[in-house]
Amino acid sequence: HTTSRPPPTPSPLRFSKFFQANLRILVTGGAGFIGSHLVDKLMENEKHEVIVADNFFTGSKDNLKKWIGHPRFELIRHDVTQPLLVEVDQIYHLACPASPIFYKHNPVKTIKTNVIGTLNMLGLAKRVGARILLTSTSEVYGDPLEHPQTEAYWGNVNPIGVRSCYDEGKRVAETLMFDYHRQHGIEIRIARIFNTYGPRMNIDDGRVVSNFIAQAVRGEPLTVQKPGTQTRSFCYVADMVDGLIKLMNGNNTGPINLGNPGEFTMLELAENAKEVLGWEPKVVLRDGLVLMEGDFRERLAVPKKTKA
Ligand code: NAD
Ligand code: UDP
Repeated sequence: HTTSRPPPTPSPLRFSKFFQANLRILVTGGAGFIGSHLVDKLMENEKHEVIVADNFFTGSKDNLKKWIGHPRFELIRHDVTQPLLVEVDQIYHLACPASPIFYKHNPVKTIKTNVIGTLNMLGLAKRVGARILLTSTSEVYGDPLEHPQTEAYWGNVNPIGVRSCYDEGKRVAETLMFDYHRQHGIEIRIARIFNTYGPRMNIDDGRVVSNFIAQAVRGEPLTVQKPGTQTRSFCYVADMVDGLIKLMNGNNTGPINLGNPGEFTMLELAENAKEVLGWEPKVVLRDGLVLMEGDFRERLAVPKKTKA
């Protein structure tokens, strides 16, 4: 026997608040790669107050250093597997290690972050009537049997593999989002993010773009795994952040695939990573790789050679 409640009627106060866009916004995982770029963008709006909750597992204060001390900004060291009591209008729930090296490091912690962390943030959304956006992943499609994957595809996921803490964790997180939506009327948004790249990616996170840029900057050979013709789509982080903000403030609950539709082979990516180190950018991927090169050079302390 279950009791189902009707969705709450939005209060006039909350309604007007939303359209005046005087918002207090929580970003979990805001000290990470995508989260810190999202914070930069949200802080551009003078009507927004931004609170970041992060346990600094893969993120760092450095990514947010320009906002520390700002009157509209707060940074809380907090693990989302613990309840959080704050008063906010919107929640961008990003907290979760995203690259295999980090999420496999402590798989039990990863699945707790996905399941208990999302449950806690939904509990918060329910208590304060906030809208909540989950950054899910293309990994929910698992080893897909359909190409390309549309949102209607249910995926093909191994429940007991070493990646399952992440893939299945995100699937449960999506389930929780929809159950809170149907049962408690919570306003939800789900983005299924595809590969994203840009400055502030973890240098040693083992993903292909950070590997190639770090190798190119260090003057090492690029480790293109065979056959090299495998393709991925790469979305520059600023585009991803724009997509997340549009999704949050639009009317579509999702899930929606967010990524760059253009596919590149690993050999093309390697070519671009080599070429950007000295030539003017010509295409979008090159633009992004250049920006990333600058950031990686700074953090790896490898200055650019001046042309003779
Ligand atoms: P990231 O590792 O740079 O950022 C994740 C942030 O979450 C870090 O700051 C980390 O310290 C924090 N965090 C982890 N566990 C936490 C916990 N228990 N409590 C509080 N904070 C915690 O990763 P990212 O690339 O910025 O990814 C952000 C989100 O986007 C993640 O949810 C990820 O699953 C999703 N995503 C990213 C990609 C991508 O290509 N980068 C692809 C698909 C999905
Ligand atoms: N637990 C338990 N008995 C034990 C060890 C753990 O009942 O001897 C419980 C623990 O309280 C927690 C769950 O099992 O609710 C998972 O424990 P684990 O050590 O895996 O995670 P952690 O406690 O580190 O969060």
